Amino acid sequence: VTQLDPEALRPDFPILKTRLHENAVPLVYLDNAASTQRPKAVIQSLVDVYEKQYSNVHRGIHWLSDQSTDLYEESREKVRQFINAPARESVIFTHGTTESINLVARSWGDANLKPGDEILLTEMEHHSNIVPWQQTAERTGAKVRFLPITDDGLLDLEKLDEFLTERTKLFAVASISNVLGTKNPIKRLVERAHQVGAVVLVDAAQSVPHAPTDVQDWGADFVAFSGHKMMGPSGVGVLWGRAELLEGMPPFMGGGSMIRRVRTDGFEPADLPAKFEAGTPPIVPAIGLGAAIDYLHKVGLEAIAQHEHQLVERAHRGLEAMGGIRFLGPSPEHKAGIVSFTIEGIHSHDVAQLLDRYGVAVRAGHHCAMPLHRRLKISASSRASFYLYNTAAEVDIFLDALQEARNVFRRK
Ligand code: PMP
Repeated sequence: VTQLDPEALRPDFPILKTRLHENAVPLVYLDNAASTQRPKAVIQSLVDVYEKQYSNVHRGIHWLSDQSTDLYEESREKVRQFINAPARESVIFTHGTTESINLVARSWGDANLKPGDEILLTEMEHHSNIVPWQQTAERTGAKVRFLPITDDGLLDLEKLDEFLTERTKLFAVASISNVLGTKNPIKRLVERAHQVGAVVLVDAAQSVPHAPTDVQDWGADFVAFSGHKMMGPSGVGVLWGRAELLEGMPPFMGGGSMIRRVRTDGFEPADLPAKFEAGTPPIVPAIGLGAAIDYLHKVGLEAIAQHEHQLVERAHRGLEAMGGIRFLGPSPEHKAGIVSFTIEGIHSHDVAQLLDRYGVAVRAGHHCAMPLHRRLKISASSRASFYLYNTAAEVDIFLDALQEARNVFRRK
C-alpha cells in the first residue's frame, strides 16, 4: 500500500481552508465520524447535474429524464462494485443509515418476528441501530437483548453462546463503533449467527468510508451506510440486502415508483430496487455519492485505513503522555480512526468548547450511544475522528490545544 499524502489531497477540499474566530485560526476538522467534508469533484458533480442533466428519474419518458436516470443508475452500479454486492438490484438508495435500518426493522422485522423471538444488538450500538429494533419489539412482542462489551471496549465474544441462541432471529451489529472505534469481527459474527439461523444486519456507517468492504466476504444479510460520512452529499444512504430476503419483504413506504399497479382495492409492488424506493428518491445526492466513490477509489481504501491508523497512534501516544486521560475503547491496533476520551475534572462539553477556540472541531456528548456511556459509567465523552485529509500536524495542534485547555482549567 502506498503512503497517502494528505497535504496533496487537501487542496481538493475548499472548506479545509477555513479560518475562524477573530484570531483567524485554521480549521482543524476532527469530527469526521459525525460527517465528513467533500472534495471539489463531488461538489462539481452536483452542480453539473443541476445545470445540465436534472430531471426526475423515470426512464424513457423524455430525454432529460433519461440523462438523470442513467446517472442515478450508474451511481447504483458504482455502489455495487464498491461493496462487492452480487447484484445491482439489491442496492437500495435510502436517505441514510437510519432509514436503511428502519426499513429492515419495519419491513423484515414486522413480517418475521413474534413473541418469544429475540433481536440481538450489542452494548456499543448507535441509537439508530437500537431504537428501530425497540420499536419493532413493541409491535411484534419480540425481545431485544444486548451482547455485552468488555471493559476495554471489545465485544465480549465469550458470552456469544449465551446471547446468540436459536431464539435469536436477528443480529444487528456495527462493523465499527462510532464511539470506541472498535473494529468488530464481522465475518466471524455472521458465521456464528447463521449457525443458529439468525439474519444479520451490519451497521457499516463507520467502516464503509474508511476501509475496503466486501459484503459477500462478510456473508451478511443486510448492510447499511450513509453517503455523508464518505464525502458524499447528505441525504443519501444505502441499504444492501440479499436479494432473496429483499424479494420476500413487503414494501417499507408506499407511494409513487414503488408499485407495478394500483387499483382502488389494492396495489402490486414493483420489482427491486424500486419496491423500496417510494417517491422521488435522493437523485442528486445519489449521483454525488457516485462521485465520492470515484474519489475514494483514486485515493485507495487501504491507504486511507493505514493513514488513519497512523493518526490514531499519534493521538494515543500524545494523550497518554499528557496523563489524566481515560481512553474509551481498545488500543489502536483494534480500532479505526476514532479516539474518544474523558479528562479528569473537565466536562466533555467544556473540552470541545475550549478546543474550538483553537480551531479544533471535535464532538462531545453521548454521540448517540447512551447505553454504551451508561455501561462505561460516564455521561459524556469527547471524540476526535480522522479522515484522509487530516495530517500529523493537525493531531499535534489538537494535542497542544488540549494541553492549553487543561492549563486554563487548572488556573480557574
Ligand atoms: N450508525 C453509526 C455507527 C453511526 O455512526 C451513525 C452516524 N453517527 C449512524 C448509524 C446514523 O447515520 P445517519 O445519521 O447518517 O443516518
